[in-house]
Amino acid sequence: MPMTGGCHCGAIRYTTEGEAIAHALCHCSDCRRHAGAPMVGWIMFPSDAVRVTKGTPKVYASSENGRRHFCADCGTGLFYTNGQMLPGLIDVQSATYDEPEAVPPKAHTQVAERLSWMAHVHELPTFERYPPQG
Ligand SMILES: [Zn+2]
Ligand SMILES: [Zn+2]
Repeated sequence: MPMTGGCHCGAIRYTTEGEAIAHALCHCSDCRRHAGAPMVGWIMFPSDAVRVTKGTPKVYASSENGRRHFCADCGTGLFYTNGQMLPGLIDVQSATYDEPEAVPPKAHTQVAERLSWMAHVHELPTFERYPPQG
């Protein structure tokens, strides 16, 4: 089924077609530092299944062959490509889908680099909004 998504400011929009190859939450330090977040959800497709329908992402070389495509206006990370490790494939930051609930991730990857406390975050106290103020 086709899915749509985009960056926070709306300058960049995209669609994905067909079945994803994989969908995982990545804990590597490159994802963490580029996103400024403890982990990043990536859903993988053949390159021709993902089409940018509005705008042009800026491309940042985060490693020798890794390329991170993001919105230069609002900073949202959108795609990852790596011509050497992942030829013919593209990873999409799955939280940028308009309906991210529709595609739950199926695995955690790169846990060798995971922040140690991330293994236990589900045990933290939770609040519908914020903790009660003193
Ligand atoms: Zn944007
Ligand atoms: Zn990663």
